[in-house]
Amino acid sequence: MPYILALDQGTTSCRAFLFDEKASVVASARKEFTQHYPQPGWVEHSATEIFETQLQVASETLRQAGVRAGDIAGLGITNQRETLVVWNRKTGEPISPAIVWQCRRTASLCEEGKSKGWEEKIHERTGLLLDPYFSGTKLKWILDNVSGARQAAERGELAAGTVDSWLVWKLTGGAVHATDVSNASRTLLLNLDTAEWDEEMISLLDIPSNILPQVLPSSARFGETDASWFGEKIPILGIAGDQQAALFGQACWKPGMVKSTYGTGSFVLLHTGEKPQRGHKRLISTVAWKRNENPVEYALEGSVFIAGAAVQWLRDELKILDSAAASEAMARAVPNTGGVFFVPAFVGLGAPHWEPEARGMIIGLTRGTQREHLVRAALEAVAFQTRDLMEEMGGGSTKNTIRELRVDGGMAANDLFLQLQADVLGLPVIRPSFIETTVRGAAFLAGLEAGVWKSLEELEELWTADRVFEPSEDRSGIESAYSGWKRAVELTCKWARRPT
Ligand code: ADP
Repeated sequence: MPYILALDQGTTSCRAFLFDEKASVVASARKEFTQHYPQPGWVEHSATEIFETQLQVASETLRQAGVRAGDIAGLGITNQRETLVVWNRKTGEPISPAIVWQCRRTASLCEEGKSKGWEEKIHERTGLLLDPYFSGTKLKWILDNVSGARQAAERGELAAGTVDSWLVWKLTGGAVHATDVSNASRTLLLNLDTAEWDEEMISLLDIPSNILPQVLPSSARFGETDASWFGEKIPILGIAGDQQAALFGQACWKPGMVKSTYGTGSFVLLHTGEKPQRGHKRLISTVAWKRNENPVEYALEGSVFIAGAAVQWLRDELKILDSAAASEAMARAVPNTGGVFFVPAFVGLGAPHWEPEARGMIIGLTRGTQREHLVRAALEAVAFQTRDLMEEMGGGSTKNTIRELRVDGGMAANDLFLQLQADVLGLPVIRPSFIETTVRGAAFLAGLEAGVWKSLEELEELWTADRVFEPSEDRSGIESAYSGWKRAVELTCKWARRPT
């Protein structure tokens, strides 16, 4: 029986899943690790703790299943993206804490770059925006701020990479310094057209190029785990950043296919084919993956900062919900929001609005407004934000290019929310039977390379729908609610731009 071991190195926890050849889960384990907030707006992880935690859950999974490492055909990795680690090639020790994707410490560096007019070129070359979110400025920050780092890098003593790269280095006992093309496309350093490091971007950010990992396809022979970790070697055969892995795990393999992952925030990725899409200035153009010798495939990406977090806020701060799951029954208790709109712009608005100074707003309250209306308005807000993104992706209308939306993440457990999403989009919304699409995507990438699965067609049969939410035929109420949402967003943005 060939097994695939898939590691999911997330922002708050490490998980490991052992899959069999039907892509069913044989065993899994999860462990959280420490979050460090050394200053307001800063977020760090210990790369050493990440590796040790990841190793523990992987070993635990094998133990649970009673499977030997030698029975595993391949290892797949999916990871929190953009988080950056720099380590010493000789000792294998990180030279500083990992700077997490959420960390805003390079905001002034980005502002400086904007004032120098870098933004246009960066978007053109890399598909990204000049924002602290991406790894490039984090790497520059470490080189400029960790004592002796730049000199050591120039002497060739340091290695840098996103978390996938760090795990591969450690797992292979320091034999391999590589990353996959989907993770590399989040660094500000990858040329989106060639899918290779871009010399001009590297020198713009003043990075010594010898510090960077080799860029490999997402399905490829990365190396083998050192036999000391699991008793026997396991070949590392697949890597993708978490959102790209989810797109792959949702079997969104053709242009026009799109998925949304609803967690704390939500991420919408649209497969755009074998050419990067330009001309969507308010979205990110990113590598989806590259399967071995096949051409690179691309995606458009938009993120909503606050999705499930709006439900959390109603639960934890307003205390009008006992649990996130209770939002469904409560929202069902009223037929509509009674004219209430809730724009959960707690941390500014992301794509496609990009209003960092925006803050949340609830509008349309009357004497009769009940908590049920507020809860329903929170669910609707997530659905409306997704439509905003998808309209941008579809060039003004979602109907022309996009035929359905595949969903996953914690909020996808909420049937009422998914029905609202289908109604708001006017598209079928499909929840798969196997909801852990991210880790399954990593397993698929590794399993294809291992030959456990021979083709995408074979994998397609393994992806099945749990439920399809068909959009309501009656559009008039929905369209007028959506235009109400747009007015509410406009007001929120106006409020953000108040004169100082
Ligand atoms: P993350 O990976 O970002 O931590 P998850 O995918 O675990 O997120 O999803 C958790 C989020 O989903 C939380 O913000 C929670 O409020 C929300 N959530 C979970 N279950 C439900 C539900 N049944 N209805 C609405 N929201 C939910």
